[in-house]
Amino acid sequence: MGDSMERSGRSRGFSRWLLLITAIAFCNVANAQRLHRFVIAINPQLTQIDVRACFDGQPPERLVAESLDAAIALIGAWDEATGKSITPRGYIPLKSVPDSGCITYKADVSRPIKLHDRTGGKIRRVGKDLAAAVGLWFWRPEQLADDEDVLLVFNLPDGYAVSVPWAPVDGTSKPTFRLGHTPYDWPAWAAFGRFTVKTIDVRGSQLRLAVLDGSPPVDVEQIAGWVAGSANAVADMYGRFPFPQAQVMVVPNSRMREPTPWAFVVRGGSPAVHFVINQRRPIEEFYSDWTAMHEFSHLFLPFVDSDDAWLSEGIATYYQNVLGARGGRLSVEDAWSHLHAGFGRGEADAKGLTLAQATHGMHRGGHYMRVYWSGAAMMLLADLRLRRMSGGLQSLDTALDALNQCCGQPDKAWTAAELFAKLDEITQSSVFADLLNEHTDSRQFPDLTMAYRELGLIPLGGDIDLASDAPLAHVRDAIMSGNSSQFTSASTR
Ligand SMILES: [Zn+2]
Repeated sequence: MGDSMERSGRSRGFSRWLLLITAIAFCNVANAQRLHRFVIAINPQLTQIDVRACFDGQPPERLVAESLDAAIALIGAWDEATGKSITPRGYIPLKSVPDSGCITYKADVSRPIKLHDRTGGKIRRVGKDLAAAVGLWFWRPEQLADDEDVLLVFNLPDGYAVSVPWAPVDGTSKPTFRLGHTPYDWPAWAAFGRFTVKTIDVRGSQLRLAVLDGSPPVDVEQIAGWVAGSANAVADMYGRFPFPQAQVMVVPNSRMREPTPWAFVVRGGSPAVHFVINQRRPIEEFYSDWTAMHEFSHLFLPFVDSDDAWLSEGIATYYQNVLGARGGRLSVEDAWSHLHAGFGRGEADAKGLTLAQATHGMHRGGHYMRVYWSGAAMMLLADLRLRRMSGGLQSLDTALDALNQCCGQPDKAWTAAELFAKLDEITQSSVFADLLNEHTDSRQFPDLTMAYRELGLIPLGGDIDLASDAPLAHVRDAIMSGNSSQFTSASTR
């Protein structure tokens, strides 16, 4: 499901601020890093968050929050030097705060607020724990210079833990994180409560898993095994997990039917994968479900603008099946059959609309099938063309590997055109630009007739039969095995 921006759409004139930041960046080139320090406390009832924000040198002009509803949750803000209350104006102005001064602010997280944002309760009680959208309670500098960061120190009641997406700072007595440089309006979630944050090592990357309270309680070991298995399947593609660390949050809801009825990726702070699970379902159902593989596959790409959701969803939808076969959770025939069935659903959806139009109206019009599966079809075509063009030296796997190495920074958003231009540069081809030109403004679902013929994919009822004598049968098999097709020819199979 979604790799979501959920932008609040608010616009602030921050060009003046940008100018100031640029000036500071230039003045401070030779200086040590500026590190503001925010100490964040929550009460044992998990109803109120108090933040003490101390600035390193000159404070920013103001603090902002991602959600427009944050102004309603804000109880108040005070200048520590004078004790005077600061009047918020949709932001917390800091003009009166002296250099290296401190302020405190308090936010009410006891209830969901849905005045502006109607996309769902952004403050949720999960059993005895609390999940709260960061944008509702966290006021922060609008932008940070390259040499500027915020240290976030959590002051929690005894026996409580916190789950956040930010990069952890090791060797501290309290949970401590670096805010980093993702834009302030990228959504993120925090959880507070009596859960344990379990660190899962995935080839040297750290997944910080928080499983929130549920009734019946979740078998955390089992769920951790399932998360680790899916993350490792993704890491197997190019030998490492795409990011050095990620937050993984699991919210139990036993009233839902499926094992994983809802899941999404958000990028605020750093990539984070969220799952709502039905903990009553047997663990085998989790392993045969595609959701975790889909969500972790989103991380093959940096953040892609939601106007181009066909790209991020296409990658995730393609690889959820390909990686399923490579990891042995799906037979090769079943993986192709799933792809084929999906292409059929995509072709039947949003007829008469271009892919760009279907993507733009995806949520409103429910055009998910067309968007997800058009993207997946384009990824199959990209994979096929790269492998054919290079005699198996290149593939979508190798292109994404190189993309992650050059451009995997977690704080930059890309359009599909930008990302495809980079992938063409990496592969020294026009494979991606061609696909963009052929399909985004087309009212037709990508035509796979020739690809099926070359790969030897023969539709038979709802399934796919694999022809052994197809010209590119070795490419077909290389896609699902994850091995290079370079040294395999049709005659040796
Ligand atoms: Zn998705």
